[in-house]
Amino acid sequence: MSTGDKNDSAYSVQERVDAVLAKTPTGLLINGEWQESSDGSTFEVENPATGEVLATMASATAADAQAAMDAAADSQVSWARTPTRVRAEILRRAFDLVQERSADLALLMTLEMGKPLAQSRGEVTYGGEFLRWFSEEAVRDYGRYADTPEGNLRMLVTRKPVGPCLLITPWNFPLAMATRKVAPAVAAGCTMVLKPAALTPLTSNYFAQIMIDAGLPAGVLNVTSTDSAAAISETIMADARLRKVSFTGSTAVGKHLMKMATENVLRTSMELGGNGPLIVFDDADLDKAVAGAMAAKMRNMGEACTAANRLLVHESLAEEFVAKLADKMSALTLGSGVDDGVDVGPLINAKARDSMDELVTDAVARGAEVVAGGRRVDGPGYFFEPTLLRNVPAEARVVREEIFGPVAPVLTFSDEDEAVALANSTEYGLASYVFTEDISRGLRIGDRIEFGLMGLNVGVISNAAAPFGGVKQSGLGREGGAEGLAEYTSTQYVGVEDPWGVK
Ligand code: NAD
Repeated sequence: MSTGDKNDSAYSVQERVDAVLAKTPTGLLINGEWQESSDGSTFEVENPATGEVLATMASATAADAQAAMDAAADSQVSWARTPTRVRAEILRRAFDLVQERSADLALLMTLEMGKPLAQSRGEVTYGGEFLRWFSEEAVRDYGRYADTPEGNLRMLVTRKPVGPCLLITPWNFPLAMATRKVAPAVAAGCTMVLKPAALTPLTSNYFAQIMIDAGLPAGVLNVTSTDSAAAISETIMADARLRKVSFTGSTAVGKHLMKMATENVLRTSMELGGNGPLIVFDDADLDKAVAGAMAAKMRNMGEACTAANRLLVHESLAEEFVAKLADKMSALTLGSGVDDGVDVGPLINAKARDSMDELVTDAVARGAEVVAGGRRVDGPGYFFEPTLLRNVPAEARVVREEIFGPVAPVLTFSDEDEAVALANSTEYGLASYVFTEDISRGLRIGDRIEFGLMGLNVGVISNAAAPFGGVKQSGLGREGGAEGLAEYTSTQYVGVEDPWGVK
């Protein structure tokens, strides 16, 4: 039976789960072959909604990492010479296969990561778009041929693939974080080793099989799931043939990798943590702001780098905003993401659930008031109630740290300067959101706010065509857009003697 069938509903949930797990590779992908780890070691993947084990995966060792690196290095020259049209068409076929197998991908993501199926389907759409976008960009990565200002040389400027890359992804968007790196690397002509998060390796393996089915040659994409991430990164980053590390994850791990990257002077792209403000001005459309806050806070159970972490509301609107948002948050249904009608799934593990408890307890001890939710939900699974806090002091941990869960603190401000100062008072600078019906004010805030991304009257802005990335400790580089392809290319300049021979 195909779980990608339109007749899916003819089967029970358990039948669909068994079918998709049966067809998902659990090995390491090295040089085009799925294989066991060199010492036979394995790790388990759990369903966070039930605590049940979903699959046992091969766990890559340092020797496997070396084999994957060898495969990537050995295929780099021929892959770089493969015409861009061929690379583009592989990506386009992969996009089509993602559409055909979208039901499988969505179910896998919900099983291993917890988000409700409707949101997993949304991620299939978003994640798939990187394949389509970069298939279109691949053939338009132009160079230039020009005179120098003095007329003494012709400049031939081309963009070449960076070379073999190490791609490290987090667990919160298991498909999109992989396609956002793999697709531009393929388009640019780079080979790669992908190391997915140990909590969610199934989606990455399923996606890697799609890339093979789409015609990607052996060795271009290698996948090394593991429960010893450091062994993989240390081995691969010590190899002088590696040229780039692209990492999405926490700022702490990103800094560690940046230090390691200095040894071989590697190119780095770092998509790190966030502490996003959502500012509601006194001239905002309140219903739009509440809807935006729901989307920006509750998408992915709040487990998003782009999540609105701090709701900054003008004091004149605060009471009404809090009342409306509390109603909406309290009306959400918690449960296993595979069940119909569920809005909020479990957090990724017990540690993530317990950290919500700690943040709420700390805020309350400092004088915050719980307006909605506030408690963990008894297991099985790692659930925490959607929680709204008000009167939260700026020094509370929930304001200073990345929350990564369904907890929303509200702070108030009295004027634009105070709003901007509050918004910028963080070491992070990834996503921000502004609600105002005065478009000049919105654009002015865009000038003043120290964030790589800003949503103006909208709570979700991610798009494959847009350059995504942060400033300050939220990272370096951009993914998506034309900028996303440039991250995987190096510029070469060839100075050519003047063809008229007169200079
Ligand atoms: P994490 O930093 O714990 O792990 C991310 C990845 O790094 C995982 O694959 C993990 O196995 C790996 N890793 C950990 N230590 C490593 C090491 N020494 N060497 C090599 N790899 C190592 O982050 P997480 O908990 O998986 O993800 C949540 C974090 O990711 C949050 O901070 C979130 O904001 C951030 N994130 C950022 C973006 C963005 O685009 N800026 C997107 C999604 C998530």
